[in-house]
Amino acid sequence: MKVCVTDESGLVKKAKYAVAIDGPSGAGKSTLAKALAAKLGISYVDTGAIYRTVGYAVRQHGISGDDKEGVVALLDKIKVDARFEDGKQYMYLDGECLGEKIRENEISAYASKVAAIPEVRTFLLEMQRKIARENSVIMDGRDIGTVILPDAEVKIFLSATAEKRAKRRYLELIERGENPDYDQILIEIKERDLRDSSRDVAPLRPADDAVLLDNSEISLEATVDAAEEIIRSKLPAVCTAR
Ligand code: C5P
Repeated sequence: MKVCVTDESGLVKKAKYAVAIDGPSGAGKSTLAKALAAKLGISYVDTGAIYRTVGYAVRQHGISGDDKEGVVALLDKIKVDARFEDGKQYMYLDGECLGEKIRENEISAYASKVAAIPEVRTFLLEMQRKIARENSVIMDGRDIGTVILPDAEVKIFLSATAEKRAKRRYLELIERGENPDYDQILIEIKERDLRDSSRDVAPLRPADDAVLLDNSEISLEATVDAAEEIIRSKLPAVCTAR
């Protein structure tokens, strides 16, 4: 049995563990995961950014996201890297740091199209597992609890209604000084939900042992508190499990 070292808040510090947060676009996974990673002192891994990097590469090469053969052929020619500096994740494509370029709205659609291609998921699988082998992580995505880290100590499936998620995205864009169309955002969110959950490979669904957390009606602070409660209730298992 491993000896656990706990911090003043009682959370396990030394044993390596993984928290998987899955859920649909716009549920607030990354905001939640970042807040929890800071509280727990572990690394936040944004797997959507990894798919976005492939989506970005596909667009840069003038390939359509629907051109499966073209996308698969491109995989042999590109190098995708995730680097972590000061707890922040930076995505690199062929040695170039992409920064915020992967956050463009157009890249979201490319990412969800390439993510439905089995070869793309296989291409990125080992990279994600390696990060979790080397660090205690809180990783967010669509298939972390089901496929990437089926043995994660804690699994949370975060969701909210499509309307709530669209509203949040709308307000975010307004804050950025953009002039968004709510109805269009709602349509895009529903399209992405459908693509992510109906694909043959690694469809978005809660793992059997995931705790479901719906934050449609609760604030970010309340969501963080609820998730922390879930983690605290599961983490003691780390002491004997690893
Ligand atoms: O989370 P984010 O919106 O940045 O992810 C972009 C797209 O990447 C998603 O719409 C989804 O299709 C895909 N994705 C995935 N599996 C993950 C993370 C993201 O299929 N683990």
